[in-house]
Amino acid sequence: MKFVASDKSCLTWSGDCLVVGLSEESLPLTGLLSDLNEQVSGLLQELIDETDFKAKVGSSAVIRVGGSVRKLAIVGLGAAEDLKLEGLRRAAAVAAKLAKCEKCASLGISFPIWNNSPERTTQTIAEGVTLAMHEDKRFKSDPETPKVVLSDVALLDLPGHEDALETASHVCDGVILARELVAAPPNIVTPASLAETAAAIANDHGLTLKVLEQAECEELGMGAYLGVAMASEMPPKFIHLTYTPAGTPKRKLALIGKGLTFDSGGLNIKAGAGSMIELMKMDMGGAAAVLGAAKAIAQIKPDVEVHFISAATENMISGHAMHPGDILTASNGKTIEVNNTDAEGRLTLADALVYADKLGLDAMVDLATLTGACIVALGNDLAGLFSPNDELAGALANAAEAAGEKLWRMPMEEKYFDGLKSIVADMKNTGPRPGGSITAALFLKQFVKETDWAHMDIAGPVWSEKDNAYNNPGATGYGVRTLVQWILESA
Ligand code: MN
Ligand code: MN
Repeated sequence: MKFVASDKSCLTWSGDCLVVGLSEESLPLTGLLSDLNEQVSGLLQELIDETDFKAKVGSSAVIRVGGSVRKLAIVGLGAAEDLKLEGLRRAAAVAAKLAKCEKCASLGISFPIWNNSPERTTQTIAEGVTLAMHEDKRFKSDPETPKVVLSDVALLDLPGHEDALETASHVCDGVILARELVAAPPNIVTPASLAETAAAIANDHGLTLKVLEQAECEELGMGAYLGVAMASEMPPKFIHLTYTPAGTPKRKLALIGKGLTFDSGGLNIKAGAGSMIELMKMDMGGAAAVLGAAKAIAQIKPDVEVHFISAATENMISGHAMHPGDILTASNGKTIEVNNTDAEGRLTLADALVYADKLGLDAMVDLATLTGACIVALGNDLAGLFSPNDELAGALANAAEAAGEKLWRMPMEEKYFDGLKSIVADMKNTGPRPGGSITAALFLKQFVKETDWAHMDIAGPVWSEKDNAYNNPGATGYGVRTLVQWILESA
């Protein structure tokens, strides 16, 4: 798909499908829109009247025009004062899907400029179109190829913003990588293949990669991580990818992703309806977001040093599996009584956090499909944000808002750590059911000493069965856009 930031307007562009974004204030038609209506012999007004179009968010209508524009479509943007970047991203997805449905190869998008920022408007529209058109047919033996493919997209009245189109393209590369990693099954995406993906990013974009093998992790005393890895036939891979900018970095950051390529639950096996064992390929959604962010950041090249880390493994059962009741010692010396082998993500993250904490960072963020409790608390659309640091939490919330990824700050209620107290070890790995996402975050906090840190529990939004604007059913690539936005704002 080719994007152009065009100096043409909705009056001068010609092609298959012209999509005009209308806010409630655009009705009745005046100015440019009234001119457009005249140019198409009143068909725009006719379309509005016939469909009783009120410019509601998500609404759309299309009519055949003929001439220099084959189809004319309108997309509702709601009230102008409520329009946010995410509204434009979703409207752009509606426009692209309309064009696809109408078998159009070229699309002209005429949307208002958000907040006097043509750059952000351009980037956001391009993201909405690209992500809406992404389809993953890698595992279909005979994917049908459509006769007409959307190939040319013009963003009208937004000349000269090629940089914003470039940024959008890099961000979408990252989101699509994350989606494809999450969507691929656990017999394809393994700890070794995640390390290979990291190697490909390093090779393609000049990053440095260190993969710690099992023996090196043993030397570093990563007993919590290796306890989880014990049962798998596949060796664990501790992935550490680094982006170093050309000049002096303004900040040093790390992104850490939970990388369980499959989570059976271990001996506390996931059993029965609702255990979602068949979806546990998505338990590496944190690692996928981190690698997706790496692919985007490596191409955007901000003035920030960024470390991308995942302690990748599987949680399986075998004669070597950790027992419920085992006591593991993490690389900071803390001892953990494993009272539930299905709370394995936090064990792998514990050693990854201790490792990252020693890198001399300004801040670090971990992303993890960590708890069902977070889904119970916030539903499937929102991730939970946990941080003892208000400034970092605020920066991430702002980045998520711009990125259109929903995030809600959760409390780190220290008293709840009582639920993790162990008679025999420093702590247990799970507490009581109430507040389960909070005790998980408090557990992780035990492995952070030096660095400003935030934790995102992305168990809900990493996967969606719904068709949701630019997210087609399946893996969403959640987290990549927020992370990239946060890093760019740090530069
Ligand atoms: Mn688990
Ligand atoms: Mn898990």
